[in-house]
Amino acid sequence: MTTFTYDALPARVVFGPGAAVTRLPAEIDTLGAQRILLIAGASELTLARELSAPFADRITATFSAVRPHVPIEVADSAREAAADADLILCVGGGSTTGTAKAVALTTGLPIVAVPTTYAGSEVTPVWGLTEDGRKTTGTDPVVLPRTVVYDPDLTLTLPASLSVASGLNAMAHCVEAFWAPRRNPVSSAVAADAIRHLAVGLPAIAADPGDEPARADLMLGAYLAGSAFAVAGSGLHHKICHVLGGAFDLPHAETHAIVLPYVLALNAPNAPDASSRIASALGNDDPVRGLHELGSKLGVPAGLRALGLSENDPQSVVDDILALAPADNPTPVTRDGLQNLLRAAWAGTAPTKGEG
Ligand code: NAD
Repeated sequence: MTTFTYDALPARVVFGPGAAVTRLPAEIDTLGAQRILLIAGASELTLARELSAPFADRITATFSAVRPHVPIEVADSAREAAADADLILCVGGGSTTGTAKAVALTTGLPIVAVPTTYAGSEVTPVWGLTEDGRKTTGTDPVVLPRTVVYDPDLTLTLPASLSVASGLNAMAHCVEAFWAPRRNPVSSAVAADAIRHLAVGLPAIAADPGDEPARADLMLGAYLAGSAFAVAGSGLHHKICHVLGGAFDLPHAETHAIVLPYVLALNAPNAPDASSRIASALGNDDPVRGLHELGSKLGVPAGLRALGLSENDPQSVVDDILALAPADNPTPVTRDGLQNLLRAAWAGTAPTKGEG
């Protein structure tokens, strides 16, 4: 019999092409904001100013010194800029949302988020800060944005390569949600639908970044993927990528995209329900092959060796990964299994179910 615990996360989501223009002002009014801190990276500042023009008289501070992974000095300056604010409006990708979360963490200010990538951070209560080169993450409901306005039109300017990287990151969120520690029937249902939307949107955007329906598919998929991840948490795949990324300074999105099919191959035989739902969402009889083929079609590098790693590099961090491997991973994580997985992921050979 199925038993589970599900903590639903409270957030209002407004979704639709043009929503950032047509719906954002009313959302700001609903929250009664009078003194708004606007956070947007330098490249998204013009867009953010355009979107906030209808309530420009209530923008009392603007912060645009956004940097990846929220360095602590960036968080401190943004917090100073928030001194007089009663609401944070952030317009941008995961780095911008992360900056807004760093401010909310110490001030308790509500956030209205307008995402422009497929990061998914806007629907999670997870924050991250970097100090002395080390990234610390934590979970606090106070950083979960109060309202998210998703407008797929805002992503039309996101180049195909960034769109694919960001969308594949979202794919890692929802595939992993099937076996992550707090998985439940709700997060799995959301994850399956997320995969379906991402699998439609990703190849279409790679072929034509101006494809508006595909932009909507990708943004909806990213929202659902972030929601599943927020509830289910992270599992073996994220632990492997975290260790590899930290040890060898690897590009985040590519590492996730390369490793994911191999973790699925390891888990698939012992996660039959997840396997069949992922297969069906990908429209392929074999979920592992489906995910690998999607990645190849999207230009995912063939193996970790394509990122410059030597064959021994991944093997040298096996102990670090084993120390973090979740005890309830569908396939128990053994040293041999992990070594095989990393060998195959390094070589880029086609993953097959049960490998590892
Ligand atoms: P990002 O926010 O760093 O943006 C990447 C680049 O895209 C930037 O140069 C930005 O200016 C540009 N950009 C953003 N939107 C654009 C648009 N519409 N058109 C053109 N260019 C645009 O990258 P990201 O992938 O969105 O976010 C990654 C960060 O988010 C990482 O730090 C990651 O750890 C974090 N993250 C956090 C969570 C969480 O739950 N806390 C979840 C996912 C990701």
